[in-house]
Amino acid sequence: SYRKGGYHAVRVGDPFNSGRYIAQRKLGWGEFSTVWLAYDTQSSKYVALKIQKSAAQFAQAALHEIEVLSIITNGDPSNSNCVVQLIDHFKHAGPNGQHHCMVLEFLGDSLLRLIRYNRYKGLKLSKVKEICKCILTGLDYLHRELGIIHTDLKPENILLVSTIDPAKDPIRSGLKPIIERPECNLNGGSTMSIIEKKLKRRARNAVAKISGSKASMGVAVTKSGRCLDGIDVRCKVVDFGNACWADKRFAEEIQTRQYRAPEVILRSGYSFTVDMWSFACTAFELATGDMMFAPKEGQGFGEDEDHLALMMELLGKMPRKIAIGGARSKDFFDRHGDLKRIRRLKFWPLDRMLVDRYSFSETDAKEFAEFLCPLLDFTPAKRPTAEQCLQHSWLNMRDSIHKESTNDANMESLDAGMNKLQLKVGK
Ligand code: ADP
Ligand code: MG
Repeated sequence: SYRKGGYHAVRVGDPFNSGRYIAQRKLGWGEFSTVWLAYDTQSSKYVALKIQKSAAQFAQAALHEIEVLSIITNGDPSNSNCVVQLIDHFKHAGPNGQHHCMVLEFLGDSLLRLIRYNRYKGLKLSKVKEICKCILTGLDYLHRELGIIHTDLKPENILLVSTIDPAKDPIRSGLKPIIERPECNLNGGSTMSIIEKKLKRRARNAVAKISGSKASMGVAVTKSGRCLDGIDVRCKVVDFGNACWADKRFAEEIQTRQYRAPEVILRSGYSFTVDMWSFACTAFELATGDMMFAPKEGQGFGEDEDHLALMMELLGKMPRKIAIGGARSKDFFDRHGDLKRIRRLKFWPLDRMLVDRYSFSETDAKEFAEFLCPLLDFTPAKRPTAEQCLQHSWLNMRDSIHKESTNDANMESLDAGMNKLQLKVGK
């Protein structure tokens, strides 16, 4: 995709916005963009530089995201709402065209990577609660104060906030940011020059150093294998490329498949409560390591119908009025509100599943299910708001000792797993 209209190729040391930002290291990428760690020479801080592909549709999407991010940032001057902040934006001309660039505050690993580092075993419930509080704080701000629906909430789009803040004083922490572009390889070959290799390594080490051994940049799990122990688990919601307003929606099909609400599949219209559905799916995944719904198409039925079947197996039958009320209802349901092709459902209620499959204690299972199930109400208007959710006793309750010790046992084999992971990642 590094061609006309596509990604902008970046090299370590490349300057942006008249030399204010210097590229340090690639952090990640999405369908529309690449994201780089950059050094802001004006503020002496590290930032995340999101560089959009240049073609017209991407440029338009970037302008939309910049608009949403500006509103989010302007409405939160104290930066306390668990949503990423926009620092700057500008256009950058490259060989593939004009690229819109967003400068965002620099954050750490996504929750998806955190789940992976835990070898899909699930986090301690005390950590799940901390993370849930942050996500809900973000959603409450977006929904209630700004009228914004995120529409793509999922573990990948929630990033941890590093407890060691590299932005505060990168210089005093002994870091040397790269501020000059390395020499070009004069041979014109594809091999990197030695100095470029050196600088790349230095950038990597620098990042490892600023993130320390804690919750950032690929080190979400400490050497002892205790995930996030003793760390204040803060996180922020990112990726506003698909966000919309409750009174100004753009797409009918929203959300990533596994986090998609039933009313979106049925085309019954949607509002803020679609984010609450995705939030519940995310909380379940944090606690168990598994996706709540992973639909697959099968013989004689599609992915959508399987998805609806999985929902009903876990949550009970969908009320007939809801089932037949959407523009696409007839594709899946008969007039009685039964699925057309998947006739036999195996009911396995959430609290039972938490005990039987995930070895939760009866009490933990009951309490967690009581927190999640209202968020997964088939009637969207019945789902609690983020504000109401923040008041829920589960979030303000201490965990039972039993669960803590069960999870500690789970963590014991983590060192071995981490070693394997590092071997894979390192190559
Ligand atoms: P897209 O819209 O293309 O999916 P995202 O905004 O989700 O782009 O960013 C893509 C990836 O870049 C993220 O999954 C994450 O790994 C990384 N990233 C994005 N924003 C930041 C940030 N503020 N700090 C650190 N990494 C980030
Ligand atoms: Mg994304």
